[in-house]
Amino acid sequence: MSVSQLAKSIAESPTLKLNEEARVLREKGEAVIHLGAGEPKNKAPINAILSAAAKLNAADIKYTPTDGIPSLKKAVIRYTEENYDRVVAPENVIISSGAKQSVFNVLYSIVNPQDEVIILAPYWVSYPDMVKMVYGVPVIVTPEDGGFYPKMEDVRKAVSSYTKAIIVNSPNNPSGVVYSEEFISQIVEFCEAKGIYVIMDDIYHKLVFDGKTVPVGYKYTKKDIETTHVIVVNGVSKLYGMTGFRIGWTIASRELVGIMSNVQGQITSCTSVLLQAAAEGAMTGLQSVTESLRMTLENNRNVMMQELHSFTGVKCTKPNGTYYCLPDFRAYYNKSVDLSQLLLKKALVVTVPGKEFGMEGHLRLSYAGSIKDITEGVARIKWALDPSSPNEIYIGDRKLVRDWL
Ligand code: PMP
Repeated sequence: MSVSQLAKSIAESPTLKLNEEARVLREKGEAVIHLGAGEPKNKAPINAILSAAAKLNAADIKYTPTDGIPSLKKAVIRYTEENYDRVVAPENVIISSGAKQSVFNVLYSIVNPQDEVIILAPYWVSYPDMVKMVYGVPVIVTPEDGGFYPKMEDVRKAVSSYTKAIIVNSPNNPSGVVYSEEFISQIVEFCEAKGIYVIMDDIYHKLVFDGKTVPVGYKYTKKDIETTHVIVVNGVSKLYGMTGFRIGWTIASRELVGIMSNVQGQITSCTSVLLQAAAEGAMTGLQSVTESLRMTLENNRNVMMQELHSFTGVKCTKPNGTYYCLPDFRAYYNKSVDLSQLLLKKALVVTVPGKEFGMEGHLRLSYAGSIKDITEGVARIKWALDPSSPNEIYIGDRKLVRDWL
């Protein structure tokens, strides 16, 4: 079959692939523990449901403006004022089908063939492939010290005359770290001076722990919304646990939003009106939903850290936000894909290989599930890897014996 070289070179999303593998195993009745998930177990906020239900009841389900329904844009404008201290106009906002589409649309709208986009490792799996999909070149910057905090001097070294943008995701998927105020201020000032876009993927920005707050990119630019190179992407997926609703947004200059609207208009026409109504409901309804999710995640993070501490040799930087941590398993295994497969086959635990995030030898573990999933999941991993742990374990009423160490 003759297919596009570019399309053929795009990797399957490893996280979506793992979700599917876990689903199939569960359907077969296997007691799989999913430590790979990027979504919490909460029910959708009631205001989201009521708002979407009202639309359904009115049977008024039609196309919307390409850049989103005015009332949702209004909610995003209020959100931006409250959380970013920026007043923006409706023409600075475009709603897309998830922050994933938002990031893609931004890249599609700013990158010329061969332009470079800097990506900070560890990074969200989709960035490099998205850059390739718009004929750009992903340039990965990895901290030399093996840590998760990017250094400004490494970013400077990676910049060339082809650099079009840098993607900054803090709190970071997969490491859970929050970049320092100093780093964000330096990156924004540097990029503004050079005319490089800073795409701030803020999808986890309210899900932070230990009293931390996340530095806001806009704070470090004197430019207004029409001239700044800071572009903000956010959405309801993580903040409200509304992953299935597929609503994200971008805040940028009128010019860029106009171009992104033309692009989106040719691809999806618009995002579903039902889902936009649901997002509006969540954003204008009870905000305690996010705070209670944040508190659950902080507690789960604490349990995850406690469980991982019982592991000799496994090192883990304490995450300050998100749903994830990225422990270093090199004391046991160097190849994270092999390790992840072993854990799935032998211990029925889903993990995501660090290699997919540019951090070989690590595994991304999610603490978005239940406490039981976390404690049992880590216990199973320990059983599979640590020779000092008992070599028998019960999964349900099935006794498993470790015979590979
Ligand atoms: N950015 C990051 C860093 C993410 O982790 C995710 C979801 N895993 C997204 C963007 C996409 O979010 P959405 O569900 O809104 O498409």
